[in-house]
Amino acid sequence: MAAPSLKFKVRHVSPRVAAEERQRLLSDPGFGRIFTEHMVRVRWDEAHGWHGAELVPYQPLTLDPGTAVLHYSQAVFEGLKAFRQASGGVAAFRADAHASRFRNSARRLALPELPEDTFLEAIDVLLDADHEWVPEAPEHSLYLRPLMFASDVSLSVHPAPDVTFLLIASPSGSYFPRGVKPVTVWLSEDFSRAAPGGTGAAKTGGNYAGGLLAQAQATAQGCDQVVWLDSHEHRWVEEMGGMNLCFVFGRDDGAKVMTPALTGTLLPGVTRDSLLVLGRDLGYEVEEGRISVDEWRDGCERGSLTEVFACGTAAVITPVGAVKSAHGAWMVGDGGPGPVSMRLRKALVEVQRGIAPDPHEWLHHARVSSRD
Ligand SMILES: *Cc1c(COP(=O)(O)O)cnc(C)c1O
Repeated sequence: MAAPSLKFKVRHVSPRVAAEERQRLLSDPGFGRIFTEHMVRVRWDEAHGWHGAELVPYQPLTLDPGTAVLHYSQAVFEGLKAFRQASGGVAAFRADAHASRFRNSARRLALPELPEDTFLEAIDVLLDADHEWVPEAPEHSLYLRPLMFASDVSLSVHPAPDVTFLLIASPSGSYFPRGVKPVTVWLSEDFSRAAPGGTGAAKTGGNYAGGLLAQAQATAQGCDQVVWLDSHEHRWVEEMGGMNLCFVFGRDDGAKVMTPALTGTLLPGVTRDSLLVLGRDLGYEVEEGRISVDEWRDGCERGSLTEVFACGTAAVITPVGAVKSAHGAWMVGDGGPGPVSMRLRKALVEVQRGIAPDPHEWLHHARVSSRD
């Protein structure tokens, strides 16, 4: 492999959090509440390109109120997880796929593309410093959050001449501490997440900000999550909240797993892609296609559509138990988690934790050096 294009300057802090306190925090980390001791920062500007790569103590940012991202939202992010391995050590899941999607998101937001080797080196440097913050418990992980934003000070609208990349990490607990529980979803016909030519395929905060009102509407309807339909007809199913959707037709070994094709308005999920590969490995027929709301309801009523689940890095697989819209409501199967969903979930989690073999080389093993 080529040498990393950037050399990272490493500034360790002596731990602010004592070992016992860290163990206490890691026993029930929740999601996105606690952060590790360090972060990575890399700068970019027009004159110097990428430079100033360093590991520094985790700390607040000081931003001028005129900083461009606060006004025009030129920013992208990623979300991936590092897992403690059954054989010891720590590995990040599909870090290369996240590096490549981060570049694609940046291109769409007119941000500079961070080289993939720098993205991976940032992860290695942070995991080396903070590997003790990777929780041990099954289903727990260290959530890695790379982000990049326009850091120039200017109220004029233009692609940023000055950009900051950060990598922070947050220990994360099980999404379902009391067992996998299906969600009820609300089909949004008043709002759209993404439209052709828009930013739907990029991981950018504006897509989330634009979705909050629909999520609030779903909550007001007694639902857990919002399902996004195509913006033109509000007929074709796209995604659920910040996760992709999969539909299981038939049963047992004859089941077919279908997910909406990537039309440009969907976010190309790494979990979605991984499950398509694992589904095929397990002998299921897998397909990228399209499904309308009418086909979803009719399939459930006739019994041909047996399971529906959402998938993403945070929760892996979340079964969908019931559906509501302005025109009615229906159940999926018996409303409980389906066997194909749970089999796929187990298969993926076992690869992530190094319990099952990794034939597709999805694990990025961290080089953890000993400093004591
Ligand atoms: C991040 C995200 C997903 C899931 O992607 P993963 O790579 O599987 O975590 C799906 N939809 C949206 C809108 C997202 O932002």
